[in-house]
Amino acid sequence: MPELRFNLVTKDWVIMAPERAKRPEDFIKKNVERGQLPPFKESCPFCPGHENLTPPETYRLGTVDSWQVRSIPNKFSALSREGELSRQMDGIKRTMAGVGLHDVIIENPLHNGFPAVIPLAGMQDIFRTYRALYRQFYQDPRVKMVILFKNNGAAAGTSLEHPHSQIVGTPVIPPQIRYRIEEAQKYHDDTGECLYCRILGEELKDRNRIILETEHFVAFVPYAALTPFHTWIFPRRHMASFDALTEAELLDMASALQQALQRLYYGLDDPDYNYVLRSLPDPQGNIEYFHFYMAIVPRLTKAAGFELGSGMYINTQLPEKDAEFLRGVRIPDKLE
Ligand SMILES: [Zn+2]
Ligand SMILES: [Zn+2]
Repeated sequence: MPELRFNLVTKDWVIMAPERAKRPEDFIKKNVERGQLPPFKESCPFCPGHENLTPPETYRLGTVDSWQVRSIPNKFSALSREGELSRQMDGIKRTMAGVGLHDVIIENPLHNGFPAVIPLAGMQDIFRTYRALYRQFYQDPRVKMVILFKNNGAAAGTSLEHPHSQIVGTPVIPPQIRYRIEEAQKYHDDTGECLYCRILGEELKDRNRIILETEHFVAFVPYAALTPFHTWIFPRRHMASFDALTEAELLDMASALQQALQRLYYGLDDPDYNYVLRSLPDPQGNIEYFHFYMAIVPRLTKAAGFELGSGMYINTQLPEKDAEFLRGVRIPDKLE
């Protein structure tokens, strides 16, 4: 009989339907194209030498001629950089000026420099840039919430090949994050402890869903994973905001994320995925009940009418089996 599991963080019920499970290998859809991309492409605006094709930089690591990471305003920004916060109400019509920030982070000068195959130093440069922009965005008084994410591949929402991620500063705090914070506060009221610290402690005791551990981070498949190979990366130390990481922790987080992505890349042959940072909207906030983390969602299945109609998920893969598979992935000595 299928089992329903409750996700304490998202408050979602997930139907675990392992009788419909596939072997992990069956998820492999050969991304031949991505594997064969050249290091430089003449037609790509993000490749070095084409800097004049993009809007002026908002941040750069390295020199103009030899950069490691650069960020630029998104040409197709969801929000306008110019303008003031303003709100209007007219009957049932509630509107706000669409102001905010939206940058694209070009992660690497190499057109084929994917996170799973670049040297760790490259991943650490990406994380230094993430943090600099995260702080820069919160300096803008119009920005109430910063969302940092990566879309990798068409099923994850991008057709642009060159490795990039995005950061958006919105003029409102979206209900999804507000809800999670409120629920975490309720849990803390009831028990006196941080829900996320508790989950991490239980996962470390149980060990069945752990994928990998670094000095400061733990990557695991949640007990009620919403989708196959859904992964969370939690800092071991309690902190509510990404801003609170020490330099050593920040660099270790780059390593933890890279190792988790390598397991997908080499184990499932480079699936499309999204990753997203879940951090407190107040960058300096140090509350006891919220704990920042990163989520990786491989795009191996599609949500359909049932998910739309119920808000529930069906996961055909058992989290314990997914974690076991990912733990066993062999990372080659020479990354390629
Ligand atoms: Zn390129
Ligand atoms: Zn905590």
